[in-house]
Parts: sequence; structure tokens; C-alpha cells
Amino acid sequence: MTTEADLVERDLITRVPTDLFIGGEWRPSSSGKVFDVEDPATGSTLTQVADATPADGLAALDAASEAQASWSKVSPRERGEILRTAFEMVTEHADDFALLMTLEMGKPLPEARGEVTYGAEFLRWFSEEAVRVGGRYAIAPDGVTRLMVHKRPVGPCLLITPWNFPLAMATRKIAPAVAAGCTMVLKPAALTPLTTLLLTSVFQEAGLPPGVLNVVPTSAARALSTPLLQDARLRKVSFTGSTPVGRDLLRQSADNVLRTSMELGGNAPFLVFEDADLDAAVEGALKAKLRNMGEACTAANRFIVHESVADEFGRRLAKAMGGLFVTRGTQDGAQIGPLIDARSRTAVHKLVTEARTSGARVLTGGEPQNGPGYFYPPTVLADVPSQARILSEEIFGPVAPIVTFSQEAEAVELANNTEYGLAAYVYTRDVARSLRLSESVESGMLGINTGIISNPAAPFGGVKQSGLGREGGSEGIEEYLETRYVGFADPSAN
Ligand code: NAD
Repeated sequence: MTTEADLVERDLITRVPTDLFIGGEWRPSSSGKVFDVEDPATGSTLTQVADATPADGLAALDAASEAQASWSKVSPRERGEILRTAFEMVTEHADDFALLMTLEMGKPLPEARGEVTYGAEFLRWFSEEAVRVGGRYAIAPDGVTRLMVHKRPVGPCLLITPWNFPLAMATRKIAPAVAAGCTMVLKPAALTPLTTLLLTSVFQEAGLPPGVLNVVPTSAARALSTPLLQDARLRKVSFTGSTPVGRDLLRQSADNVLRTSMELGGNAPFLVFEDADLDAAVEGALKAKLRNMGEACTAANRFIVHESVADEFGRRLAKAMGGLFVTRGTQDGAQIGPLIDARSRTAVHKLVTEARTSGARVLTGGEPQNGPGYFYPPTVLADVPSQARILSEEIFGPVAPIVTFSQEAEAVELANNTEYGLAAYVYTRDVARSLRLSESVESGMLGINTGIISNPAAPFGGVKQSGLGREGGSEGIEEYLETRYVGFADPSAN
């Protein structure tokens, strides 16, 4: 039986463009091919999207290169106004964006609404930053030369986004690029291209000139990106995704000496000290672990808990996680949706199974559900041995492994025992300890007594193998600007 909700979903899907967007026009792939976009809660096909070829990618770069000179001359205020209009339009169509993300990515509707607010905020934030790009003027130490320093747009950029935050990862790149005066070729993740395509239609309506934003979904990411990275007209690549792919893109960027921004994987430690407010720590743990079903680069990956409170923390966390409603994200009351695909679910379960075999205790969950969709139950593991793979790899699922420590120094050592350094979380009431940890924990971002750190006004990014560069904050626009210096000799000084 077709319900009213089915009709709303179908109507939305038919309104989303499914072609490539190049030079201000929607067009099919030059191969005529399309690929399927799936609903991970049911495994059924939502729609089909044009499958860009490498030639389409180069056509997108042609359009971006052609538009670069005129776009960089558009006034900062005008660029800011386009972003502001886009912010208002995304906010006005928040229900459409939220439902679309839930359909193609799986997150529960309330979380998808949260992402609309978060993702739209980058448009507003950078509409304000567009008019705040400064420079400086100084007298050189010799007293003769005048030093003028100003900022210019980097030039055409390749933006590559992941599937886990389809709106926010796109706006976090597009908005600063627009504000700085750069043109773009955007390649969204093949698993979730629809949100980006709907966002593209918003920019078209908001008055972004043709060629500034070009969008090329493809099922063959590397085949499309490699010729672009080899093309001297491209000046920058900004990538959000896994560390192995980031390394590959960095290697390829070397030949053309491209500017690079890399937002890569994480393995966030979540430290709970003996003086922590345990209720707050459990509440924070639920947020840091389960946002996006654990499919977040900032997700708490290892719970490092003082031995005196570990049992109590584990018991409370297991009770809270075990009681969550796991179902399709569109259902009323949904709290945990499906994982993105079968491969992810298999990978998560393998980590859990290996940890169990090596001695971990299951406090809740641990067995995948049967039936359609890629659901995995919230799972808590205690007594996880230090060599277990689940502690060194990104889990990307709703699984919380707990290990214990006795001294602060040991906790810091455990926290830093990873190649990653994106997010970290600390629960303690001791201010002096908080300050010490803000210097000793190796991460680009640290949450103290909070499980949520993402904020458009803050610099998001990692250290070590979690990446290079920052997105958001006043730092975000700098990634799309280069510094020019002009030495100006005062003739009267000679
Ligand atoms: P992924 O690396 O598989 O893919 C990311 C994007 O790169 C997609 O668009 C994909 O199509 C494309 N891609 C894949 N292989 C490519 C190649 N060889 N050449 C060019 N492009 C290629 O990552 P994912 O599975 O989509 O996303 C999950 C990963 O992203 C996790 O590791 C997560 O931690 C990371 N992530 C990081 C941040 C951050 O800000 N640091 C934010 C979100 C996700």
C-alpha cells in the first residue's frame, strides 16, 4: 500500500536534478551512462544519476577556468550576497534537504535536520567572511621600501566530498571558495550525490554565475580526478575522505605543486577521568559515538576510562545504547539508522568479532540484524585488549570499545598511540588537568566536557595523518587565498 509518506518521498526524488552541472547548464554524461543511488535502509534504488566521464571532468575544468578571471573581479559584497541568498534558500527548503539526506544516506530525520542547520551555517558564516579579507601595508626596515601584502583567490579548485555528511561537507568547501573568488569542480560521493545536486540548483537560483560551480558525480572517482590533477589550470584540491585516498591525492598533487586541503580519517579518544561527572560523560559519549550512527570522522573511537569508574561508565553506556530505536531514518522516533552499505556493515562486524575473539566482553549489541537495509545494533565492548584492531582503525559504526587506565600520563599515552589526530574528548572537573591535556593530547580539536565540537565558526581539521589545513572559522577562507606581496620603492627616499 502506498502511504502519504511514500508519495512525499517520491515527489522529492523527482524534483532533484540528476544530470551533471557544467558551465551553468544541466547535461547528461557524454557516455550516456547513469549509476544507481540506493536507500541504505531498504537496499532499493531511489533514482539514477548521470555518470561523469573523465572528458566531462575536463569540460567542467574548462568551464571553471573560463569563469575564473571574471569571477575573481566580482565584488566581495556581491559574492557574500549570493552565499547569503543560498543560506536563506537552504533554510527555507530544510525539510527537503533533511528528507533527501535521510533517504540517500540513512541518518534519522532529526539528525538530518541538524545537518541542514550546520551545513547552511557555513553559507552564512562565509557570506560574512567574504567582506573581511584583509591585507597590510608596512614600511620595510630600510625605511625606503613600502611593503604591500594582499590576498588573491587561489584559482580553479577540485573539491571531493564524502558520503557521511552530504550537505555540510559540500557547503564547508563551496562557501569559502565562493567567498574567496575561486571557481570549482565538485565531485560528490557516488553513494550520496542527490543532496549536492539539490544544493547546486539552489546556487543556480541564487545567482551564482555559470562556470563558478561545476558538479560531476561519477562512479569512477580516480579516473575523473587524475586528469584534472595533471592539468596545469587546476590550482588546488580540497578533499574530505579516508586517509589512504588522501595520501594518493597528495602524491598526485605533487607533480603540479597544487595547494591541498586534506580532511582525513580519525580515531578519536574519549577520556573519562575519575573526577568526571559520569552522567554528563555518558550523555557526551552517546553524542560523540552515535552521531551519524558512528559514521563520522570525529566519532569517539576509543573510550579510555579511569579504572575506578570504568565498570559504572560501561554499565550506564550499555544501558543507554542498548535502549535506542534502530530503524529507517524516516520513521517516527528513529534514533539509529542503517550503515551506508553492506561492505561497511561487514567491516564493522569483523572488528567486533575479532575483538571478542581476543577477549573483549560484549555489554550490549554485537550481532547484526537480518532483513533488508544495513542496520547494525549499538554495541559496547569492555576489557578490549590493547592490540585489538578495533582500537587502531576507524570503526565507522555504532560500536564503543572501552579500555582502562590508572594514571593521567598513561591515559595521554594511550590517546596519542595512533597515526590519527583529528578529534579528542576529555571528561574531568579539574581545570588544571584540562589545560595540561589541551597541550598534550595530539589532535586538531579537543572537546572538554562536551561530545560535540563541530562548529562553523571554529577551525575544523586534524594533525598527524588526519590531514592538512582547516575548514570553517576565520581560517577556512585562507585555504582558498594566496598571499601576494608588492615591494614599492618610495622614489623621494633616494
Ligand atoms: P573515501 O576516501 O572512500 O571517499 C571520499 C571521496 O573520495 C568520495 O567522493 C569518493 O568517491 C572519492 N574517492 C575515492 N577514491 C578516490 C580516488 N582514488 N581518487 C579520487 N577520489 C576518490 O571516504 P568515504 O568512505 O566517502 O568517507 C569516509 C571517510 O571520510 C572516513 O575516513 C572519515 O573519517 C573521512 N571524513 C573526514 C572528515 C574530516 O573532516 N576530517 C569528515 C568526514 C569524513
